[in-house]
Amino acid sequence: MTTEATVENLTGQLSAYLDENRINQVRRAYYYAEQAHEGQMRKSGDRYITHPLAVARILAEMKLDHQSLMAAMLHDVIEDTGIPKDALSEQFGEAVAELVDGVSKLTQIEFRSRAEAQAENFQKMTLAMARDIRVILVKLADRLHNMRTLGPMPYEKRQRIATETLDIYAPIANRLGMHAICTELEDLGFKSLYPMRSKYISKAVTKLRGSHRDVIDDIRNKLEDKLRERGLPGRIQGREKHLNSIYNKMKYKQKSFHEIMDVYAFRIITESEDDCYRILGAVHSIYKPLPGRFKDYIAMPKANGYQSLHTTLFGMHVNIEIQIRTEEMEQIANNGIAAHWMYKNDADPVTSDHQSRVDRWVQGLMEMRERADDSLEFIEHVKVDLFPDEIYVFTPKGKIMELPRGATPVDFAYAIHTDIGNACVACRINRNLGSLSQPLQSGQTVEIITAPGARPNPAWLSFVTTGKARSSIRHTLKHLQRTESLELGKTLLKKSLKGFGTRLSDLTGEQINAVVKHNQVTSFDDLIADIGLGKRMAYLVARQLVSDTHAQGDASAQALDATPQQEGQRSPVTIRGTEGLLVSFASCCKPIPGDPVVGVMDSGKGMVIHSDTCSRLPDDREGRASLTHLKWAKDITDEFSVELRVEFERQRGVIAEMANAVAMADGNIERISVDEQNARFGVVTLVVHVNGRRHLARVMRRVKNVRAVTHIHRVRY
Ligand code: MN
Repeated sequence: MTTEATVENLTGQLSAYLDENRINQVRRAYYYAEQAHEGQMRKSGDRYITHPLAVARILAEMKLDHQSLMAAMLHDVIEDTGIPKDALSEQFGEAVAELVDGVSKLTQIEFRSRAEAQAENFQKMTLAMARDIRVILVKLADRLHNMRTLGPMPYEKRQRIATETLDIYAPIANRLGMHAICTELEDLGFKSLYPMRSKYISKAVTKLRGSHRDVIDDIRNKLEDKLRERGLPGRIQGREKHLNSIYNKMKYKQKSFHEIMDVYAFRIITESEDDCYRILGAVHSIYKPLPGRFKDYIAMPKANGYQSLHTTLFGMHVNIEIQIRTEEMEQIANNGIAAHWMYKNDADPVTSDHQSRVDRWVQGLMEMRERADDSLEFIEHVKVDLFPDEIYVFTPKGKIMELPRGATPVDFAYAIHTDIGNACVACRINRNLGSLSQPLQSGQTVEIITAPGARPNPAWLSFVTTGKARSSIRHTLKHLQRTESLELGKTLLKKSLKGFGTRLSDLTGEQINAVVKHNQVTSFDDLIADIGLGKRMAYLVARQLVSDTHAQGDASAQALDATPQQEGQRSPVTIRGTEGLLVSFASCCKPIPGDPVVGVMDSGKGMVIHSDTCSRLPDDREGRASLTHLKWAKDITDEFSVELRVEFERQRGVIAEMANAVAMADGNIERISVDEQNARFGVVTLVVHVNGRRHLARVMRRVKNVRAVTHIHRVRY
């Protein structure tokens, strides 16, 4: 049959449940895909378009909506022909383009490590990535057709696809209650992976079936007679055991082939729920039910929405398994979530009974996440986000990590190990540098870049979402803060002691203990840390310590006598360029190395470094005395930002010239903004990174040399 004939065939099938307009849209998607795939062939030698067409047919059998069918036609277009998503959305609308894009993304995930422990996470990741459940339905149909036509593929590829099908896609179909697709995928996967075993079991089944023919017919006749006698509607089907399930039972349940096959399975499909229970009574009157084997999945449906009555009878020296269900339950058992669209497309309006069953069905899916969550609601029925709260991402080695939605690379780093989190400085997302604060998406591969000596940034607390990251960052910062405050406190105390002409090492244990006691702290370290944190003044603590050398008892009475010597008090503390938790640079005056600076102790926050001419500094005598004199270390290499105001005559290219001048002086521009401008003059603010005053002078000279620049000065507030 030509593909044109097949597409007409398909549209004929669609006319049973779609209107003409929608059928035309599906047809249009077909012709578009046909043209896009023109010249491409499948391994079998067929034209490529036969594949999407077959995928659409599978979905049409499940009576899926026209958008799913269009997406099926177009599902390989983005991936295989390079037509962008935008083009599809222009042609067929946003919804269809989204579906196609979703399917392409699933196709792109590499199922690298197929360790069994990971299979479940892969399944969840797949579901989480899909967002719209129809993406999964198209993907499952795609996979089903590929499995049906696996033959011409090279051995390796066949094995890989079959394994992936058994590990990922068949279980997904099962979770979605799509029994028919699930068993077909399993059987096809089993046949490809184990051709010999499959052949052997299949032969044995055929042979056994022949020899059991009489028994089967006998049971079937008895059941049929009984239904007729009681006037109960119902058709009886014999059920075949699937090769894959026979094999699994032999392998995992250690049963022999004959033990498994010694069960005769039937299904009775009837009209109403009520009939189900009547039929149950009827079959129990023919054969004795085995105790403990009756299950009422009508009253208590399975998590995936499955409903049926199950019973096992003992008769004719064999066990007889019977399933009893209505037509509708049969549809749901076979097609699972897809059955929803089937009913939705019926002429009848969706009944509230049906609605609540769908809700229950999805609720059941939610339960498999092993987490109570009632917050889930449908926006529309077609948009079902199965895992609204989770994302799944890969480590560089292909391990899958589950994180809450909104988690960032920092959360990821802490989820791997606290040390990785603490030392993380940057990240790669799908091999490109990414920002540490950007929320991750399912399917991404995340690599954390660490640096020795790196420390967590307090700003991370504003975007991390996991408890582990939050508590680790807090804990580490607290620990670091303690270390830093001890260090800073000790430096300040030493300096103050020097002013009193003594040294920390000269103090006796008694002196220290007395002061610790006097201040009601538990240890000398706590006292020192308090100084570092700015909660106590080093000068006062030093005075108490020194007073104690003169007399025991009331330290404060003696304190006034001890006057610090000027030069000791003025000898500056050396600061290095780096900001820590307790040392920060004032944003008002933005000091840079070379500027005369002083430190202001801010209670609980540590020391803020200001330029000593800053207008924010206290100007009364007492206030000035509380400042800590500082000097810069000699070997600072960090960069500091300064703000420059540049006035210039307007002419073409002047801003570019300025930027160039800054670069020529090895300065980095953080920001340029135009503040004022008229026909003749302009003013810009330049924020530049420099490593000190000399560097700044060089930058300013260069900018000043730009001919149009009339004035430049450093801005401080
Ligand atoms: Mn495909």
